[in-house]
Amino acid sequence: MTDTKIIDGKAFAERLRADIARRVELLKSQKGITPGLAVVLVGNDPASEVYVRNKGKQTREAGMNSYEFKLPETTSQAELLAKVESLNLNPDVHGILVQLPLPKHIDGEAIINAINPAKDVDGFHVINAGKLATGQESFVPCTPLGCLMLLKDTLGDLSGLHAVVIGRSNIVGKPVAQLLLRENCTVTIAHSKTKDLPGVVRQADIVVAAVGKPEMVKGSWLKKGAVVIDVGINRVNGKLVGDVDFESCQGIASASTPVPGGVGPMTIACLLENTLKAATGLS
Ligand code: NAD
Repeated sequence: MTDTKIIDGKAFAERLRADIARRVELLKSQKGITPGLAVVLVGNDPASEVYVRNKGKQTREAGMNSYEFKLPETTSQAELLAKVESLNLNPDVHGILVQLPLPKHIDGEAIINAINPAKDVDGFHVINAGKLATGQESFVPCTPLGCLMLLKDTLGDLSGLHAVVIGRSNIVGKPVAQLLLRENCTVTIAHSKTKDLPGVVRQADIVVAAVGKPEMVKGSWLKKGAVVIDVGINRVNGKLVGDVDFESCQGIASASTPVPGGVGPMTIACLLENTLKAATGLS
């Protein structure tokens, strides 16, 4: 049995946030610019309220301005579009994030695509998605960017490795696959219609699970030595678990992320990185 390294996303994210705070200080002292992040929350989804609170707190801790807007569940599409437009025009706001999911009566795609792509720090705008897919400099969605950082920190060069990404959502699976392709991985995207998922996963040097099914991926599916990144956040009997059965991977995977404390903390750290990038301009 080989030991499985636990990939400590919490510690990595703390180091990254400290580095961002240092670079924010430099930007303030050298250019007089304080990065500003606007977060818009519509309605009262309890999980979203927690995310938005944490985003605001960590934004301020990094020395940036946080602008938080809590709009009622009854907000109309036109009202939300007007809010986005006012933030697009506000020079103090460098990054705009509209918290998802939005209430059912609002067309989320139209709202995201109304954000100025240069302020789209979530990287969900169709222009940023298209730029990522075509290898152009863009804002990269935060959770996928966090997965990539953890993989590079664990493995170094990813070139030539076979990555199996389970899940094909626009916010996680697809951008993760694009990023790994950019790193010269051989990428397989598996999804709900994939046949023989364990057989597909067994070919992987890297497994990224973004499914939303508690502990679905088993250690017995893995090739020995695979690195496992678990994006899933599922609440089971009041406890948070990932999409990977963490215990069953011990001794088979060479490294794996825990839930909580793996990918989760990377998301806000990458949001701050993107906001700093928006304030300094895309290179
Ligand atoms: P989603 O529901 O939009 O997509 C899930 C994907 O899994 C789909 O593409 C679907 O085809 C695939 N899938 C479903 N059942 C499957 C099966 N039996 N076998 C193989 N594939 C299957 O979800 P999402 O938004 O991509 O999120 C995925 C998970 O990641 C969720 O648990 C979510 O909470 C979590 N998440 C975590 C973070 C974070 O910050 N760590 C951020 C976003 C999402």
